[in-house]
Amino acid sequence: MGQSRYRAGITLSESHDNGSVVTIACYYCRTKRHYLPLDLRTILGDIDPRHVARNRSCESCGRNDYLVVKVWSPIHEERVGLVVRRLERLVTVRRAIWRNETLE
Ligand SMILES: [Zn+2]
Repeated sequence: MGQSRYRAGITLSESHDNGSVVTIACYYCRTKRHYLPLDLRTILGDIDPRHVARNRSCESCGRNDYLVVKVWSPIHEERVGLVVRRLERLVTVRRAIWRNETLE
């Protein structure tokens, strides 16, 4: 019963299947954000949700050494009004890479 609420899925897809939400808390700036597993899968691949923090940095302070990830399944009362960060779009950034070259 209760044990399934905090059971982490093996992958983000499985976390989605069991209705989980991925919460990333930053203990440096004390913010907490909730994400849907499929949005995270789009940018990170189908990884173990507990490894999400390794590939992210805090949206507020930019650090990633204070992030704590929790995968949990909200019960109905917790789902109502829960604000999740949705992936709006992915942009590809063009960045110039320079090298030194001797002219002659
Ligand atoms: Zn932070």
